[in-house]
Amino acid sequence: MNTIQIPSTEPAGRIICPRCGNAKNFIEVVGNTLLTTHYVQNRDGSFTPMETETEVLGEVKLYCGQCSADISEFNNHLHEMMF
Ligand SMILES: [Zn+2]
Repeated sequence: MNTIQIPSTEPAGRIICPRCGNAKNFIEVVGNTLLTTHYVQNRDGSFTPMETETEVLGEVKLYCGQCSADISEFNNHLHEMMF
């Protein structure tokens, strides 16, 4: 994986891949997650999931969906802009 310098003048509104200019497709990879699910056992022995908690323990990486450049610097922005 090559190291890429992200220009600080990048417009705040949109993420654009500094390598290929892609502004549409992005891939997020979560390294290690702890998934906790609370179940209630019913009278017939079946289970109903009540609540699921996901805790991210590892690194979260963001990659360009076209050239696979590591653009993890933009990951916080992605989550701020996710509606
Ligand atoms: Zn790219």
